[in-house]
Amino acid sequence: MVDVVVVGLGPAGIVAAHVLASAGLSVVAAQARADAGGRAALVSPAPTVRTHDAEEALPHLSPQAGRDEIGGSKLLAAPQAYRLDEWSLRGRSTADRCGGALPTDADLVDWPIGLDDLAPWYDLVERAMAVGARPPTPWTDRMSRAARSLGWEPFAAPAAASKDASGLLDDSGVEIMPATVTALLRGSTGAITGVEYVDALEVTRTLACRAVVVAASVIPTVRLLLLSDITAAGKVGRWFMSHNSFVVHGDFPGVDLGRRDAGPASAVAVAEFEGGGFDHTGLGFLGGSILQAAMTGPWTDDRVPGAAAGLDPATTNGAEPEAWVRANHASIGTVWAQPDQLPRWDNAIDLDPVHRDAAGRPVARVTFALADDDARRWEFLSERAAQWLRESGARTTWRPPLAAQPLGTHLYGGARMGDSPETSVVDSFGRFHDVPGLVIVGSSTFPTTGGRGPVETIEALSWRSATQLVEDLR
Ligand SMILES: Cc1cc2nc3c(=O)[nH]c(=O)nc-3n(C[C@H](O)[C@H](O)[C@H](O)COP(=O)(O)OP(=O)(O)OC[C@H]3O[C@@H](n4cnc5c(N)ncnc54)[C@H](O)[C@@H]3O)c2cc1C
Repeated sequence: MVDVVVVGLGPAGIVAAHVLASAGLSVVAAQARADAGGRAALVSPAPTVRTHDAEEALPHLSPQAGRDEIGGSKLLAAPQAYRLDEWSLRGRSTADRCGGALPTDADLVDWPIGLDDLAPWYDLVERAMAVGARPPTPWTDRMSRAARSLGWEPFAAPAAASKDASGLLDDSGVEIMPATVTALLRGSTGAITGVEYVDALEVTRTLACRAVVVAASVIPTVRLLLLSDITAAGKVGRWFMSHNSFVVHGDFPGVDLGRRDAGPASAVAVAEFEGGGFDHTGLGFLGGSILQAAMTGPWTDDRVPGAAAGLDPATTNGAEPEAWVRANHASIGTVWAQPDQLPRWDNAIDLDPVHRDAAGRPVARVTFALADDDARRWEFLSERAAQWLRESGARTTWRPPLAAQPLGTHLYGGARMGDSPETSVVDSFGRFHDVPGLVIVGSSTFPTTGGRGPVETIEALSWRSATQLVEDLR
């Protein structure tokens, strides 16, 4: 018997394991092993996807973007490290003040905690991850000048010093177990008693514990709960959200923008078009996004088709778009956004009744569609991004068409946090309302997305949840 099993060692699990073990608890952290694709067959088999309940869900070509190893998906990240803004936590109660229309099918709620509650945990994370701004580049300087001339207030995006937070585990006493947790075990009272897992030799075993912290990221967390028959009366898997990140490109003929100089962590951002930052009257949507300009590295072959999507033949003088992008890549600059998406009951994750993984267990089924307000938010924000690029000297701008991203890089929901068991799955500490000993950390608990990256908030909430669990287990 150990005190706590932590499921998953991405940023959420690393922080939780560090805090729990540092407090003297015995902690075993199970981490699945990636296959050649960076994802583990039993944890992240490709889900099936459909747009609504009446549609047949089809297997997606690949798993969600991410990594199954110590460090998790943050190993692929910039890693930008943002605090959320006040609107993201108070979107429901401030909707009227923003002048925005709340769609009748959206279920927007305030978080049960505010930025004041999160601030000390953000402070701890920023110290531990050495968060700060990267030096400016010629491109970010150019875009800063353009933003100021539009009357906006540009700022350098905060970034963690390293993608790899696993240093927090050094000398912590956490026992790392290469294993995939396949079920959460409960006793006759319904409380957690242990986990079932498949070890490195593919033998199924069990481990007894007093509490489990599930830090498996959104889709694997929901799947593990449902495979363990933990449903919170049908609420597990609901209010699933995704950042439908989008880009707008601009060309600066004859200017070498220095694409090779820096990665996406060296970004300049503006927050004027985030949820609480502007009057939404008549716009038909709530929320928004920060807009960011960064050099996202050289144009690798796989990125060319995306950059060429939406290019007008008038811009390329009739040249084939992909060939034109290859020839002009040094003078193409990009602004990108991570727009809010409102929570909806019908956007959900459940277990697929047909499709199974290598061990014969149901894969996750994702039901996800964009709504009219998503399209209006995209129209509005992409015009502001284009305006920013034009102000900085772009001859012309273009954007790929809006497309739903059910398996994007930033996913949210499925185990919503709130004060009431009637309308949420976990409390503000990630404690499951009706399963003693079960704590969920990660963006599955977020009631809203926010218009910025999630990882620093995931880490801050995990620190807060683990600190509370230490108290609970005393
Ligand atoms: C390409 C990319 C770029 C990104 N850039 C940014 C950025 O710049 N800024 C930002 O804020 N966010 C960014 N993100 C998002 C961020 O990386 C994720 O939100 C964050 O990593 C989620 O942390 P997590 O610990 O909840 O989950 P993960 O990082 O996904 O880690 C979960 C871990 O749990 C393990 N696991 C799951 N199930 C089991 C199981 N049953 N048994 C054992 N182990 C299990 C997984 O193998 C994995 O290692 C990016 C994501 C991607 C993919």
